[in-house]
Amino acid sequence: MQTLSGVHIAAWLERAADVMEREKAFLTELDAAIGDSDHGVNMARGFTAVRTRLGGLDHGDVGALLKGVGMILLSTVGGASGPLYGTLFREAGQRAAGAAALDLAALTGCLEAGLDGVKRRGKASLGDKTLVDALVPAVDALKAALSAPAHAGAPAHAGAPAHASLVDALARAAEAANAGALATVPLVARKGRASYLGERSAGHQDPGATSCSLLLRSLAATAGA
Ligand code: ADP
Ligand code: MG
Repeated sequence: MQTLSGVHIAAWLERAADVMEREKAFLTELDAAIGDSDHGVNMARGFTAVRTRLGGLDHGDVGALLKGVGMILLSTVGGASGPLYGTLFREAGQRAAGAAALDLAALTGCLEAGLDGVKRRGKASLGDKTLVDALVPAVDALKAALSAPAHAGAPAHAGAPAHASLVDALARAAEAANAGALATVPLVARKGRASYLGERSAGHQDPGATSCSLLLRSLAATAGA
């Protein structure tokens, strides 16, 4: 598979809805330690709404599909993460406007546009203990895959992709996001509710970085299925 069509994106979102439902208690437990115990419930509610309304969205235009998902998340997730995930999907959709499918380069551009939107809206940077800490390494991994030869040392042949396969790149991005989420444990939160705890926020994994890592893992699993 070298591109993700609207059908693949829809399959990802259905898988993500299952994952958010399954990991609801875990995400809520993480949020109980440094927040207000609602992140799992928020994410499960949002992605269940996405699944319910997926059939009414335009699957032929990935940009429109992602934007539609952003609108649903914005109006259903709530909390600080609702507007942020809403922005992530809407900005990604804006970048993909009119595309029937995304190759690795287009997908990287979309995720980067989404990340820029999240950073702008949340005024968060890497190391603030937020979902940005999972997104930045994921985008970096996609960019690295984009510039890496498909098979190091192997001679290029006609028709071979110039870079790592989409499936491999997504697997690496999901791993990087997971590592980024785990790396939030020792950090002191500088944004959001957890920042009210100051030093006491250290020693706990950020719920938003964790949900973001779960989304990327779902995408990698969908592409690899
Ligand atoms: P709330 O904090 O309003 O209860 P959630 O529990 O749903 O919202 O989401 C909390 C997550 O949102 C945090 O773990 C963090 O990853 C993310 N977050 C909070 N504030 C910001 C921000 N300003 N920028 C980026 N991410 C943020
Ligand atoms: Mg919360």
